[in-house]
Amino acid sequence: MTNWILERNVATFGEMTNLPVSLRELLARHFTLNEPEVLEVIESSDGSRKYLMRLEDGVTVESVTMRDGRKATLCLSSQSGCAVGCTFCVTGVMGAGRNLRPDEIVGQYRVMLRDLEDTVERVNVVFMGMGEPLLNAQNLGDALDVLSEKLSLKRITVSTAGILPGIRWLAALPRKPKLAVSLNAPDQKRRERIMPIAARYPLHELFVALRAFPLERGRRITFEYVLIRGFNDAELDAEAVARLVSGIPSKINVIPLNEDPECFPDLRRPDGEVVDRFASRLREAGLTATIRWSRGADVAAACGQLRGRQSLAPR
Ligand code: SAH
Ligand code: SF4
Repeated sequence: MTNWILERNVATFGEMTNLPVSLRELLARHFTLNEPEVLEVIESSDGSRKYLMRLEDGVTVESVTMRDGRKATLCLSSQSGCAVGCTFCVTGVMGAGRNLRPDEIVGQYRVMLRDLEDTVERVNVVFMGMGEPLLNAQNLGDALDVLSEKLSLKRITVSTAGILPGIRWLAALPRKPKLAVSLNAPDQKRRERIMPIAARYPLHELFVALRAFPLERGRRITFEYVLIRGFNDAELDAEAVARLVSGIPSKINVIPLNEDPECFPDLRRPDGEVVDRFASRLREAGLTATIRWSRGADVAAACGQLRGRQSLAPR
């Protein structure tokens, strides 16, 4: 069954032609293979595609496909909003949504994969769309069970704002996806200012949990660090980040802020040189650092931005 759903990606039980007709009819009577409805697809000049998808109850979420030659990364949402409330994030500014069910999470993957057809050889999945995956751990776990039938868990990354009980849950899973942690600030005080959840799950406790996280061989923890002009972009901040993560097999993903004048008019992205200097400082301190200029910035591909725009517009 998972073969038909994931490998062949069929949309109805009727298409599962190796099952007896009577069974197909029985399945169709008792179950659905619903998929999110695609309301809008916006293609960016860099080839990334952003989808606005509508779920059964009318709630909308966003998902993104990013292409790199024959490789594709599918970015999925885990919730329809986010209660964590980071001040630099459109989804956070929109506020809490609901948890997506496992079929709604896997549904985004199915819809986008069908559009890619045979044009890609390798697919990665990242939970970096709308919502905090570790506040929807049970459904995330079920979705991971299904996705891992098709994809190695090495190709699936769960990104979290640092929800400690969720990290401990992940640590206890017998088979784990990759872990990414949104650090975003070099100290507790500044982290709390942009990530209110940091008051509940303080930096020192977060790092105790991360140091204890059972990493499989060759794996590293990714730290995401959104660079905000004049707030967390100093070279001294890079040095503080290097001290924080020292001893943890890690890589740092430096993400220059995707600006949104309507949601957070006071926050700006630093100039290119400042971004480069920050990453260089990290590298000089012995870390692996990459800069991720938001893909599809011209179609507002940062998390929640497309939906944010829609909900600001009259319906
Ligand atoms: N809730 C999870 C996963 C979704 S957010 C988390 O916070 O990790 C995915 C990533 O997008 C996070 O690293 C977050 O810091 C980043 N992000 C959110 N808003 C952004 C913006 N305006 N510009 C750049 N990155 C942003
Ligand atoms: Fe939620 Fe992640 Fe956005 Fe923070 S950055 S509000 S945790 S989606």
